[in-house]
Amino acid sequence: MPAPILRLALPSPLRRLFDYRAPPGVPTARLRPGVRLRVPFGRREVVGVLVELSEHSEVPPDKLKAALELLDPCSPLPPSLLRLCRWTAHYYQHSLGDTFGWALPALLRQGEPAERRQERWWHLAADARPDDPRLARAPRQREALQTLAQHPHGVPQALLGKLRLNKASLDLLLAKGLLRTEIRHHAPRERHGSWLLQAELPLNDEQREAVEAVRAGFGGFNAFLLAGVTGSGKTEVYLQLIHQVLEAGRQALVLIPEINLGPQTLERFTRRFNARVALLHSGIGDRERLDAWLAARDGEADIVIGTRSALFTPLKHPGLIIVDEEHDASYKQQEGLRYHARDLAVVRARQEEIPVLLGSATPSLESLHNAHAGRYALLRLRQRAGQARPPRFLRLDVKSRPLDAGISPPLQQAIARTLAAGQQVLVFLNRRGFAPTLLCHDCGWIALCPRCDARMTLHQRQRELRCHHCGHAERQPTACPQCAQVDLRPVGAGTERAEERLAILFPDYPVLRIDRDSTARKEALPRLLATIHRGEPCLLVGTQMIAKGHHFPRVTLVAILDADGGLFSADFRASERMAQLIVQVAGRAGRAEEPGTVIIQTHLADHPLLVQLAEQGYLAFAEQALAERRAAGLPPFAHLALLRAEAHRPGQAEGFLEQAADEARQLLAALQLSSLELLGPVPAPMERRAGRHRAQLLLQASGRAPLHRLLGPWLAALERLPGARTVRWSLDVDPIDLY
Ligand code: ADP
Ligand code: ZN
Ligand code: ZN
Repeated sequence: MPAPILRLALPSPLRRLFDYRAPPGVPTARLRPGVRLRVPFGRREVVGVLVELSEHSEVPPDKLKAALELLDPCSPLPPSLLRLCRWTAHYYQHSLGDTFGWALPALLRQGEPAERRQERWWHLAADARPDDPRLARAPRQREALQTLAQHPHGVPQALLGKLRLNKASLDLLLAKGLLRTEIRHHAPRERHGSWLLQAELPLNDEQREAVEAVRAGFGGFNAFLLAGVTGSGKTEVYLQLIHQVLEAGRQALVLIPEINLGPQTLERFTRRFNARVALLHSGIGDRERLDAWLAARDGEADIVIGTRSALFTPLKHPGLIIVDEEHDASYKQQEGLRYHARDLAVVRARQEEIPVLLGSATPSLESLHNAHAGRYALLRLRQRAGQARPPRFLRLDVKSRPLDAGISPPLQQAIARTLAAGQQVLVFLNRRGFAPTLLCHDCGWIALCPRCDARMTLHQRQRELRCHHCGHAERQPTACPQCAQVDLRPVGAGTERAEERLAILFPDYPVLRIDRDSTARKEALPRLLATIHRGEPCLLVGTQMIAKGHHFPRVTLVAILDADGGLFSADFRASERMAQLIVQVAGRAGRAEEPGTVIIQTHLADHPLLVQLAEQGYLAFAEQALAERRAAGLPPFAHLALLRAEAHRPGQAEGFLEQAADEARQLLAALQLSSLELLGPVPAPMERRAGRHRAQLLLQASGRAPLHRLLGPWLAALERLPGARTVRWSLDVDPIDLY
């Protein structure tokens, strides 16, 4: 039998596998799908994943290279994860090798052994005695020896400090032969006793029905959409379901949006359970991530909590997947592999035959549509849990009212009353910085980014103009670069300006700003939150960072400074996003005993969307919005794929997309696909960004199947186009941002 050909997925954007011969001396039996190999690739060496073995290769034998080294004794990736990655790569038309790149911990990609951290353990030597005469005049060493004598299994390096063992003393003892050390793999913690550390809350009727419904779906694939108003106790539903999962000897995977990764959210899980919780988010180190990943894979983590990419964590005994705030945009990756973790969670649950629960106070129209179509069971929590009442909405028409840094006089009065009553106020403004524009009052010059078709934001505290699209920053000019006059005026208000103004208007109360700038340093946000939780009257000003997830029991007034943006935008999803944001921010009001009020400042107080949202709530709005999408033939009633291209020279990206459109038309004819439309190519809404010219081509289909029949052969054709190497391009399947 001839030696088999190895077909590997490599870190390359090309959507194909690469053929190699086996490394010399490695028996075929050890070459199992999933093992990693180090291979020569161009002038580099890379780590690839073995996908399959084949008898022959298209590559001529003399060109076929041998792999250099087999890195794993057996596959570190369980078959279920391989399967999920293959599905993902296929659906998003992405290279499988690069898909592994996004799905696997960095250390695995780099070829590190798929093993836990190694630790040094300190032990007493077999013949060591605490009364050793050599220690007569060394009390510290004697003490250390006595401490170690109490730990017959040894002490790991990491615990030395906790046991007050001094490294210098240990080294001296080691030199005297009284100790020995050993390198061991990090041992998983054993778990004993009951799962609960904290009593469960008695559920209300709706919560109980939700828990029962999901529980009845354990053991097989079932999808649920938990639509529960803010403060309705969705988290309690998750916690009680997780308890059931743990009792059944299985693991739970919980996805949360990036922005919710506050200690508050995590604490609710760790405080409730005596369980091994693995955390996977962007803030952890590579080694920690690999350890958590391995623990989950080997069934030694009971609960896995993480952001988007945690979806790719293998689980030995999967029991339930929960996607909290399923509407949140951070579940969609906007670079490289443009996957949607919520959608993949459903796919994964189906593959692993387990239930999946999507929860939100403001479900996405996609998920609501799936619920209407019977694909998801809809569970509703209509009431706030405990004593809390729903907030009252006031639409405040600011037409022709004076605005002071975006704040109208009636709003000022409402804020003053709330603070005087000893309560807290949250002011929401989804724009950071001091002002969105700097304008010359003499000649009309405005500060534009030199690299983008966009205005620069004034960050007054740093005396800088910054572009929020490409990161470009420059000193704030003192005179107009065009006419040299000095009357430069900030136009509009961002959080920095609102903060400054509120501090002047309400000098007796602290003003806390919470946005990406004010929380850039790690300890900043916890400190701000701690101040809020002390409960004294204060003003919070912030962007969507404060809109989500937080539980601020003393906030009774929420002010939305500007609700108009979402009503004007050309993006068909803008109104959905605006509604979600308004409801989420509003949901911070009155979450405890005192009732809450939400004031929405707008120039369009009679806009039907706002009226409906304020008077009938989010689901009524969503039904209306779905009806409009259906009538317009937009998602979720249509399926989209967006081909983006960008290049240094103007016209280059469009040229490539023209060729791409030609290819698509030919394929549509050849495959006899008719229900597909090509829209474009057109310049991107922001044509120039970070110095590149951008264009896009949209594919719109009434059904998913024809779209995907086209995509496979189309991308193969695109890779061969002459422009494909000079233009930077990417495909976005199910895009959520059309720019
Ligand atoms: P959501 O996640 O839906 O916004 P939370 O789970 O944060 O809501 O619950 C809001 C508040 O209500 C929390 O303080 C929570 O402890 C409390 N709560 C939840 N369920 C109950 C219940 N059954 N009885 C009493 N209080 C509850
Ligand atoms: Zn000027
Ligand atoms: Zn820019």
